[in-house]
Amino acid sequence: MEPGLQQAPQLHTEIISWFTANARDLPWRRPECSPWGVFVSEIMLQQTPVVRVLPVWEQWMKRWPEPSALAAEPSGEAVRAWGRLGYPRRALRLHAAATAMTDRFGGSVPATREELLTLPGVGTYTAAAVASFAFGRRETVVDTNIRRVHARALSGKALPAPALNAAEMRLAAALLPGDDAASVAWNASVMELGALVCTARSPKCAACPVRERCAWLAAGEPAPEYVPKGQAWAGTDRQVRGALMAVLRYARGPVPRKTLLGPADLVTAAPGNSARDAADAAAGTEAAALAKLRALQAPAEQLERALAGLLADKLAEENDAGLQLPA
Ligand code: SF4
Repeated sequence: MEPGLQQAPQLHTEIISWFTANARDLPWRRPECSPWGVFVSEIMLQQTPVVRVLPVWEQWMKRWPEPSALAAEPSGEAVRAWGRLGYPRRALRLHAAATAMTDRFGGSVPATREELLTLPGVGTYTAAAVASFAFGRRETVVDTNIRRVHARALSGKALPAPALNAAEMRLAAALLPGDDAASVAWNASVMELGALVCTARSPKCAACPVRERCAWLAAGEPAPEYVPKGQAWAGTDRQVRGALMAVLRYARGPVPRKTLLGPADLVTAAPGNSARDAADAAAGTEAAALAKLRALQAPAEQLERALAGLLADKLAEENDAGLQLPA
């Protein structure tokens, strides 16, 4: 047993009290937020910070307040509305999940972890988080922020293991309060503490409600046991895929392959697109996205590879007229 586990009741009280006083007021945390709103937020927040998710979530919920509303539209509309949140396959998964909810769950988000796990693209974390935050069920929720707080406060390590392991899950399960409502509050509180105070690069220990009990501080702040891999972006296929997707999102029709992958002088010379390009240039949309794509100066083979990846992932489709978001 982790020595810190004996202090679990105190940790619960201190971290939940801190959360009550300091939590951010986020729309998906408000009592009036629907389970669908929570579900959408969980998918969007997986790899994107809150500040970028907020405006997209608001627009998404206005346009598709129910899963059936999203399921009624082509998946390409979900990809378009995803905007610049990154990892756009999540938009396709959200659309597929909304379709499954409509077909199999009467248009509602299912309430149990087991049912949530049957939805396309829903893994262990999302199922537990939605069951906890949307339905008040007692589930062990473990995300990056929670893992980091557990690693430091309980295990005395600067960082959690590179990948989630069984020992961490056992520790998280042992820490979970027995009462349903307290377990939900605990999940949300530890996650928020990790996001705001016990951050990856510069934990604000002076402002931490559990600094007196923190095993990492008590151990003299030992250094990490490994160097976390940075997420390279510039020059990667991911960057090129993002730039290609931006063009397709802004386009109001198929974009000829030659325009998408061709040299810079084709930006405004695509056959049949001149009126549209002029409008776009004024609005800073498709033409601007094409200009950004050109500015990357990606080699032809990288452009081809990135586009092939988008087609394989069904984030784009191609017909005689060119490339577009999925219909
Ligand atoms: S005292 Fe510092 S390292 Fe320990 S849990 Fe709090 S913020 Fe994290």
